[in-house]
Amino acid sequence: MLNELIKKLSSESGLSESEIVSKIEEKRAELSDLISEEGAAYIVAKELGVAIIKQERLDIANIIPGMQNVDVIGKITRISPIREFSTEKAKGRVANVTIADTTSSVRISLWNDEINVIEGMEVGEVIRARGYVKEDNLGNPELRLGRYGSIAKSDEEITSVKEMRRKTDRCNINQLTEGGYKEIRAPLLQVFESNVFYEVCPECRTRIKLNESDEFVCADHGTVEPDYGLVLSGIADDGTESIRVVFFNENAEKLLGMTTKEVKKLFDRKKRLEAIISLVPLGKEFVFEGRARRNQLFDRLEFIVSNVKEVDVKQEIEIILNNFSE
Ligand SMILES: [Zn+2]
Repeated sequence: MLNELIKKLSSESGLSESEIVSKIEEKRAELSDLISEEGAAYIVAKELGVAIIKQERLDIANIIPGMQNVDVIGKITRISPIREFSTEKAKGRVANVTIADTTSSVRISLWNDEINVIEGMEVGEVIRARGYVKEDNLGNPELRLGRYGSIAKSDEEITSVKEMRRKTDRCNINQLTEGGYKEIRAPLLQVFESNVFYEVCPECRTRIKLNESDEFVCADHGTVEPDYGLVLSGIADDGTESIRVVFFNENAEKLLGMTTKEVKKLFDRKKRLEAIISLVPLGKEFVFEGRARRNQLFDRLEFIVSNVKEVDVKQEIEIILNNFSE
């Protein structure tokens, strides 16, 4: 499989096979060996402008954000309840399905009518999914169907599955390294007074920006009236070190104790960011689950929060006892 890819890349790009191999190795190193050689080969192909026409099935572990025409087979491990949302401008439904194969798991995010394709499907069933890959707020790949995607039951058997490791180990802020899910316990010392709203497509919630002709355009849904997402950032400090922490949407809502809609209303009334920022309980300890990532611009680590939890005293005692027995 990999050899075929290398041969194809070499013949279509005019580079020698060994040049292709070293490009693949470089790409893997660049991505800290997080993807397989095969996965790296697909990225190299894309960068060289070589279209890999034959639709090859991918192992889920090789899916990375930015890929188009992805074709995977996996066993359903989770189906979320359908969540309905409505804003002043749009309303819709969203549901997530997680599938896993022997290499990893991925979440498929389904919007509005796309949800119909999973009607009657259950956890444990094997499905084939085609679509494109986006990055979720935590930097994980997330499969989307879009216009050309599909989901269908598959006859293939998948005996053992591997779920993406989401174990959240507690650590101190000064022990955080890039990648991997961790949990820290710390108060927020400061919240930045930067814009807390960002524009999203009302259909698919993808972040959108104003184009040259002053329109908001979503790659999938064309020109749209934007809806709003919520983002807060600040500084958490647990006594070992401080770190910039970022909260999106439901996690920002948890900190503020308000829904995005309510926050927007408050802002439209008060016209001051301070009115929103001041809702965050500074100095109160929380447990934050998430992932540290390097901010390329400032070359520093930031912690992207995926869950805000209240400090649970019982659990804290267990953690202390466990540390003693190690
Ligand atoms: Zn959209």
